[in-house]
Amino acid sequence: MKPCAADLCVSDATVGVLCGKHHKRKWRYGSPNYYPKGITASDRLIYIGWVVTKNGCWETNAHKLKKGYGHIGFNQSQVLAHRLAYTAWVGPIPEGEIVRHFVCDNPPCINPDHLRAGTVADNNRDRDLKGRGYSKLTQEIANDIREEFAMGVLTRRMFAEVYGVCTGTIDDVVTSRTWRNI
Ligand SMILES: [Zn+2]
Ligand SMILES: [Zn+2]
Repeated sequence: MKPCAADLCVSDATVGVLCGKHHKRKWRYGSPNYYPKGITASDRLIYIGWVVTKNGCWETNAHKLKKGYGHIGFNQSQVLAHRLAYTAWVGPIPEGEIVRHFVCDNPPCINPDHLRAGTVADNNRDRDLKGRGYSKLTQEIANDIREEFAMGVLTRRMFAEVYGVCTGTIDDVVTSRTWRNI
């Protein structure tokens, strides 16, 4: 068995390239290694790092949700990586707006040139224009949401943004009012 890829760890890699402890830490903090306190949003993103694709996307190395969005522990809470990138390199996100991958439609991308803040209505209009239709939940997606929500580090609002639905819908899923797994 291969050793865990985290810094200085001598345990076996049991979950992908990491040991159980470091996999959990990556889930919670975005990176399996500890990071300095008081770090800025920009340094935090740089510390976790990204991979540049041939389309010019910067795909974060943070832990990713099943939908592909990265999430990162920052200032004692969890934030979506692309939102953190927007606040770090573009500016504050207007109240109630979401950050969209306007240029690339690539969830793990944190390239500020590919991000735009906008309303959910803007987002749905784009989806229409691009012929992608509105977000619809399926049993499989509902199960994914419940599984990831159970990790206990992300809020309903974050899931609502990731899945393009309202928080009420996420609420119904995580309490199994809808899409109960049978
Ligand atoms: Zn480890
Ligand atoms: Zn991109």
